[in-house]
Amino acid sequence: MEKLIKGLHHVTSMAADAKENNQFFTQALGLRRVKKTVNFDAPEVYHLYYGDEVGTPGSVMTYFPLGRMPRGKRGVGEVGVTEFAVPKGTLDFWQEHLAEKSVIGLKADSFLGENRMEFDGPDGESFALVEADPEGRTAWTGDGIGSGEAILGLHGARFRLRDAAATGELLQFMGYEKEDTAGSVIRYRIDGGNAARTVDLEELPDARHANQGAGSVHHIAFAVEDRVAQLEVREALMDTGYQVTPVIDRDYFWAIYFRTPGGVLFEIATNEPGFDRDEDTAHLGEALKLPERYRPCRDQIEKRLPEIA
Ligand code: ZN
Repeated sequence: MEKLIKGLHHVTSMAADAKENNQFFTQALGLRRVKKTVNFDAPEVYHLYYGDEVGTPGSVMTYFPLGRMPRGKRGVGEVGVTEFAVPKGTLDFWQEHLAEKSVIGLKADSFLGENRMEFDGPDGESFALVEADPEGRTAWTGDGIGSGEAILGLHGARFRLRDAAATGELLQFMGYEKEDTAGSVIRYRIDGGNAARTVDLEELPDARHANQGAGSVHHIAFAVEDRVAQLEVREALMDTGYQVTPVIDRDYFWAIYFRTPGGVLFEIATNEPGFDRDEDTAHLGEALKLPERYRPCRDQIEKRLPEIA
Protein backbone atom coordinates (compact mmCIF):
# COMPACT_ATOMS: atom_id res chain seq x y z
CA MET A 1 0.00 0.00 0.00
CA GLU A 2 3.02 2.20 -0.52
CA LYS A 3 2.16 5.92 -0.75
CA LEU A 4 -1.56 5.43 -0.19
CA ILE A 5 -1.55 6.61 3.44
CA LYS A 6 -1.33 10.41 3.66
CA GLY A 7 -0.63 10.91 7.37
CA LEU A 8 -3.30 11.26 10.05
CA HIS A 9 -6.88 12.18 9.18
CA HIS A 10 -8.35 12.74 12.65
CA VAL A 11 -8.17 11.59 16.26
CA THR A 12 -11.40 10.73 18.08
CA SER A 13 -11.70 10.77 21.86
CA MET A 14 -14.37 10.51 24.52
CA ALA A 15 -15.36 13.32 26.86
CA ALA A 16 -17.73 13.70 29.78
CA ASP A 17 -19.34 17.13 29.46
CA ALA A 18 -20.20 18.40 25.96
CA LYS A 19 -20.31 22.08 26.85
CA GLU A 20 -16.97 21.97 28.64
CA ASN A 21 -15.44 20.07 25.72
CA ASN A 22 -16.77 22.59 23.22
CA GLN A 23 -15.49 25.54 25.27
CA PHE A 24 -12.06 24.04 25.72
CA PHE A 25 -11.45 23.34 22.05
CA THR A 26 -12.99 26.50 20.64
CA GLN A 27 -11.88 28.99 23.30
CA ALA A 28 -8.79 27.70 25.10
CA LEU A 29 -7.28 26.06 22.00
CA GLY A 30 -8.99 28.35 19.47
CA LEU A 31 -9.88 25.59 17.02
CA ARG A 32 -12.89 25.94 14.77
CA ARG A 33 -15.81 23.64 15.38
CA VAL A 34 -16.18 22.40 11.82
CA LYS A 35 -19.07 20.01 12.40
CA LYS A 36 -21.78 19.50 14.98
CA THR A 37 -23.40 16.15 14.43
CA VAL A 38 -24.28 13.03 16.42
CA ASN A 39 -22.56 9.69 16.92
CA PHE A 40 -23.91 7.80 13.91
CA ASP A 41 -24.25 4.67 16.06
CA ALA A 42 -25.78 6.44 19.10
CA PRO A 43 -27.63 9.62 18.13
CA GLU A 44 -28.24 10.69 21.74
CA VAL A 45 -24.54 11.61 21.85
CA TYR A 46 -22.93 14.47 19.94
CA HIS A 47 -20.05 13.97 17.59
CA LEU A 48 -18.13 17.26 17.64
CA TYR A 49 -15.34 17.98 15.16
CA TYR A 50 -12.70 20.66 15.75
CA GLY A 51 -10.10 21.65 13.18
CA ASP A 52 -8.56 24.40 11.12
CA GLU A 53 -10.70 26.81 9.09
CA VAL A 54 -12.07 24.16 6.75
CA GLY A 55 -11.39 20.95 8.67
CA THR A 56 -8.47 19.97 6.42
CA PRO A 57 -7.79 16.23 6.75
CA GLY A 58 -5.03 15.89 9.33
CA SER A 59 -6.20 18.95 11.27
CA VAL A 60 -9.18 17.40 12.99
CA MET A 61 -9.79 16.34 16.59
CA THR A 62 -13.22 14.86 17.25
CA TYR A 63 -15.14 13.99 20.40
CA PHE A 64 -18.01 11.89 21.65
CA PRO A 65 -19.14 13.71 24.83
CA LEU A 66 -20.93 10.97 26.71
CA GLY A 67 -22.21 12.92 29.71
CA ARG A 68 -21.57 11.39 33.11
CA MET A 69 -18.72 9.07 32.41
CA PRO A 70 -15.80 8.02 34.60
CA ARG A 71 -12.37 9.10 33.47
CA GLY A 72 -10.29 6.61 31.56
CA LYS A 73 -7.27 5.13 33.27
CA ARG A 74 -4.00 5.74 31.50
CA GLY A 75 -1.96 2.76 30.46
CA VAL A 76 -0.67 0.79 27.52
CA GLY A 77 -2.68 -0.15 24.45
CA GLU A 78 -3.82 3.36 23.64
CA VAL A 79 -2.91 6.69 22.12
CA GLY A 80 -1.35 8.44 25.12
CA VAL A 81 -0.64 11.92 23.74
CA THR A 82 -2.28 13.79 20.88
CA GLU A 83 -0.04 16.48 19.41
CA PHE A 84 -1.02 19.71 17.66
CA ALA A 85 1.25 21.86 15.50
CA VAL A 86 1.81 25.54 16.28
CA PRO A 87 4.02 28.01 14.38
CA LYS A 88 7.66 28.15 15.43
CA GLY A 89 8.43 30.58 18.22
CA THR A 90 4.91 30.63 19.68
CA LEU A 91 5.24 28.39 22.72
CA ASP A 92 5.72 31.40 25.03
CA PHE A 93 2.45 32.84 23.76
CA TRP A 94 0.72 29.52 24.33
CA GLN A 95 2.14 29.09 27.81
CA GLU A 96 0.66 32.43 28.81
CA HIS A 97 -2.62 31.93 26.93
CA LEU A 98 -3.31 28.46 28.34
CA ALA A 99 -2.40 29.55 31.87
CA GLU A 100 -4.88 32.41 31.49
CA LYS A 101 -7.55 29.87 30.48
CA SER A 102 -6.73 27.85 33.63
CA VAL A 103 -5.36 24.92 31.65
CA ILE A 104 -3.27 22.65 33.86
CA GLY A 105 -0.31 20.33 33.37
CA LEU A 106 1.71 22.86 31.33
CA LYS A 107 5.20 21.51 30.82
CA ALA A 108 7.62 22.72 28.16
CA ASP A 109 10.43 20.52 26.91
CA SER A 110 12.34 19.51 23.84
CA PHE A 111 12.12 16.03 22.35
CA LEU A 112 13.85 14.59 19.27
CA GLY A 113 14.67 18.10 18.06
CA GLU A 114 11.18 19.52 18.56
CA ASN A 115 10.14 22.20 21.04
CA ARG A 116 6.91 21.14 22.67
CA MET A 117 4.61 21.90 25.54
CA GLU A 118 2.42 19.34 27.17
CA PHE A 119 -0.88 20.19 28.82
CA ASP A 120 -3.98 18.44 30.09
CA GLY A 121 -7.45 18.48 28.57
CA PRO A 122 -10.64 18.88 30.63
CA ASP A 123 -11.04 15.11 31.02
CA GLY A 124 -7.39 14.55 31.99
CA GLU A 125 -6.29 13.73 28.47
CA SER A 126 -2.68 14.46 27.49
CA PHE A 127 -1.97 16.89 24.69
CA ALA A 128 1.14 18.59 23.38
CA LEU A 129 1.73 21.63 21.21
CA VAL A 130 4.74 21.11 18.96
CA GLU A 131 6.53 23.96 17.20
CA ALA A 132 6.47 23.21 13.50
CA ASP A 133 5.54 25.14 10.40
CA PRO A 134 3.05 22.78 8.82
CA GLU A 135 2.00 23.40 5.24
CA GLY A 136 -1.47 23.03 3.85
CA ARG A 137 -3.39 24.25 6.89
CA THR A 138 -5.52 27.37 7.18
CA ALA A 139 -5.47 29.03 10.59
CA TRP A 140 -8.74 29.75 12.37
CA THR A 141 -8.43 32.91 14.41
CA GLY A 142 -10.36 34.72 17.06
CA ASP A 143 -10.74 34.92 20.81
CA GLY A 144 -7.28 36.43 21.39
CA ILE A 145 -5.43 34.05 19.06
CA GLY A 146 -4.00 35.54 15.86
CA SER A 147 -3.08 33.83 12.60
CA GLY A 148 0.61 33.92 13.58
CA GLU A 149 -0.07 31.81 16.66
CA ALA A 150 -3.10 29.65 15.89
CA ILE A 151 -2.95 25.88 16.17
CA LEU A 152 -2.51 24.41 12.69
CA GLY A 153 -4.08 21.01 13.14
CA LEU A 154 -2.58 17.75 14.28
CA HIS A 155 1.16 17.19 14.33
CA GLY A 156 1.27 13.55 15.41
CA ALA A 157 0.47 11.14 18.20
CA ARG A 158 2.28 9.11 20.80
CA PHE A 159 1.07 5.58 21.45
CA ARG A 160 1.82 3.77 24.69
CA LEU A 161 2.37 0.07 24.13
CA ARG A 162 3.58 -2.90 26.12
CA ASP A 163 5.44 -4.14 23.05
CA ALA A 164 6.00 -1.79 20.13
CA ALA A 165 7.34 -4.29 17.59
CA ALA A 166 4.12 -5.43 15.90
CA THR A 167 2.68 -1.90 15.72
CA GLY A 168 5.97 -0.66 14.30
CA GLU A 169 5.80 -3.33 11.63
CA LEU A 170 2.25 -2.36 10.80
CA LEU A 171 3.22 1.32 10.47
CA GLN A 172 6.03 0.35 8.12
CA PHE A 173 3.58 -1.75 6.12
CA MET A 174 1.42 1.39 5.90
CA GLY A 175 4.34 3.37 4.49
CA TYR A 176 5.91 4.88 7.62
CA GLU A 177 9.65 4.83 8.14
CA LYS A 178 11.52 4.51 11.39
CA GLU A 179 13.07 7.93 11.85
CA ASP A 180 14.66 8.15 15.27
CA THR A 181 14.65 6.79 18.81
CA ALA A 182 15.01 8.42 22.22
CA GLY A 183 14.86 6.33 25.37
CA SER A 184 11.81 4.10 25.13
CA VAL A 185 10.28 6.05 22.21
CA ILE A 186 10.63 5.13 18.54
CA ARG A 187 9.56 7.76 16.03
CA TYR A 188 7.92 6.80 12.75
CA ARG A 189 7.35 9.30 9.99
CA ILE A 190 5.55 9.34 6.65
CA ASP A 191 6.27 11.78 3.85
CA GLY A 192 4.28 12.67 0.77
CA GLY A 193 1.07 13.25 2.69
CA ASN A 194 -0.29 15.95 4.99
CA ALA A 195 1.54 17.63 7.86
CA ALA A 196 0.36 15.18 10.57
CA ARG A 197 3.16 12.81 9.72
CA THR A 198 4.74 11.46 12.90
CA VAL A 199 3.73 8.61 15.17
CA ASP A 200 5.82 7.94 18.27
CA LEU A 201 5.66 4.51 19.87
CA GLU A 202 6.53 4.51 23.54
CA GLU A 203 7.25 1.04 24.85
CA LEU A 204 6.36 0.40 28.50
CA PRO A 205 6.71 -3.36 29.09
CA ASP A 206 5.62 -3.24 32.74
CA ALA A 207 2.74 -0.78 32.54
CA ARG A 208 -0.87 -1.82 33.08
CA HIS A 209 -3.41 -1.77 30.31
CA ALA A 210 -5.45 1.38 29.83
CA ASN A 211 -9.13 1.47 30.73
CA GLN A 212 -11.15 3.52 28.31
CA GLY A 213 -13.26 6.34 29.69
CA ALA A 214 -13.61 10.12 29.47
CA GLY A 215 -10.39 11.58 28.12
CA SER A 216 -9.35 8.38 26.33
CA VAL A 217 -8.65 8.30 22.62
CA HIS A 218 -11.27 6.04 21.06
CA HIS A 219 -9.48 5.62 17.72
CA ILE A 220 -6.96 7.25 15.46
CA ALA A 221 -7.69 7.74 11.77
CA PHE A 222 -5.19 7.74 8.91
CA ALA A 223 -5.92 9.55 5.66
CA VAL A 224 -6.24 8.19 2.14
CA GLU A 225 -7.09 10.35 -0.83
CA ASP A 226 -10.25 8.61 -2.01
CA ARG A 227 -12.38 5.48 -1.96
CA VAL A 228 -10.28 3.70 -4.56
CA ALA A 229 -7.17 4.06 -2.38
CA GLN A 230 -9.19 3.00 0.65
CA LEU A 231 -10.27 -0.25 -1.00
CA GLU A 232 -6.67 -0.97 -1.93
CA VAL A 233 -5.56 -0.41 1.66
CA ARG A 234 -8.42 -2.56 2.95
CA GLU A 235 -7.45 -5.42 0.68
CA ALA A 236 -3.76 -5.18 1.61
CA LEU A 237 -4.62 -5.24 5.32
CA MET A 238 -6.96 -8.19 4.94
CA ASP A 239 -4.34 -10.08 2.90
CA THR A 240 -1.99 -9.59 5.86
CA GLY A 241 -4.56 -11.08 8.23
CA TYR A 242 -6.21 -8.00 9.72
CA GLN A 243 -9.93 -8.09 10.30
CA VAL A 244 -11.18 -4.91 8.71
CA THR A 245 -14.76 -3.63 8.78
CA PRO A 246 -16.66 -3.00 5.57
CA VAL A 247 -16.58 0.57 4.26
CA ILE A 248 -18.86 2.80 6.34
CA ASP A 249 -20.31 6.11 5.15
CA ARG A 250 -19.58 8.82 7.75
CA ASP A 251 -21.10 11.57 5.57
CA TYR A 252 -17.88 13.66 5.57
CA PHE A 253 -15.55 10.75 4.78
CA TRP A 254 -15.70 7.01 4.23
CA ALA A 255 -14.27 4.87 7.02
CA ILE A 256 -12.89 1.39 7.68
CA TYR A 257 -11.69 0.22 11.10
CA PHE A 258 -9.41 -2.48 12.44
CA ARG A 259 -7.86 -3.34 15.80
CA THR A 260 -4.07 -3.30 15.84
CA PRO A 261 -1.79 -5.75 17.67
CA GLY A 262 -0.87 -3.21 20.36
CA GLY A 263 -4.56 -2.61 21.15
CA VAL A 264 -5.12 0.73 19.42
CA LEU A 265 -8.15 0.99 17.13
CA PHE A 266 -7.16 2.28 13.68
CA GLU A 267 -9.41 3.87 11.11
CA ILE A 268 -8.61 4.62 7.48
CA ALA A 269 -10.64 7.65 6.34
CA THR A 270 -10.95 9.28 2.93
CA ASN A 271 -10.11 12.92 2.29
CA GLU A 272 -13.30 13.08 0.22
CA PRO A 273 -15.96 14.51 0.38
CA GLY A 274 -14.99 16.81 3.30
CA PHE A 275 -16.81 18.90 5.88
CA ASP A 276 -18.21 21.47 3.45
CA ARG A 277 -20.39 18.93 1.68
CA ASP A 278 -23.53 20.01 3.55
CA GLU A 279 -22.62 23.46 4.90
CA ASP A 280 -21.17 26.69 3.60
CA THR A 281 -17.55 27.19 4.67
CA ALA A 282 -18.65 30.43 6.33
CA HIS A 283 -21.04 28.53 8.64
CA LEU A 284 -19.27 25.25 9.28
CA GLY A 285 -20.15 23.61 12.57
CA GLU A 286 -22.98 25.96 13.50
CA ALA A 287 -26.12 23.91 12.81
CA LEU A 288 -26.80 20.38 14.05
CA LYS A 289 -26.25 18.11 11.05
CA LEU A 290 -27.83 14.67 11.02
CA PRO A 291 -27.20 11.70 8.78
CA GLU A 292 -30.16 10.94 6.56
CA ARG A 293 -31.49 8.05 8.63
CA TYR A 294 -31.95 10.24 11.74
CA ARG A 295 -33.48 13.24 10.00
CA PRO A 296 -37.09 12.15 10.59
CA CYS A 297 -36.33 12.15 14.38
CA ARG A 298 -34.63 15.55 14.48
CA ASP A 299 -36.99 16.97 17.14
CA GLN A 300 -36.50 14.11 19.58
CA ILE A 301 -32.74 14.06 18.99
CA GLU A 302 -32.40 17.81 19.53
CA LYS A 303 -34.39 17.60 22.79
CA ARG A 304 -32.03 14.99 24.23
CA LEU A 305 -28.81 16.78 23.35
CA PRO A 306 -27.39 19.32 25.83
CA GLU A 307 -27.03 22.98 24.92
CA ILE A 308 -23.42 23.68 23.98
CA ALA A 309 -23.61 27.12 22.29
ZN1 ZN B 1 -13.03 8.34 13.18
